[in-house]
Amino acid sequence: MKKRKEIIYECSICKFKYKTKSLAKKCHDWCRKYKSCNINITKYAVK
Ligand SMILES: [Zn+2]
Repeated sequence: MKKRKEIIYECSICKFKYKTKSLAKKCHDWCRKYKSCNINITKYAVK
């Protein structure tokens, strides 16, 4: 039985993965705008 479903959201630019869609979106917006990573966002990335 598989009940637990882990959904991981990935930033399509830097490929960091996040547990929430909003974090992935934040990262994506940042990456697109600044073409670099924001440590305040990437610290939430899933390893
Ligand atoms: Zn990113």
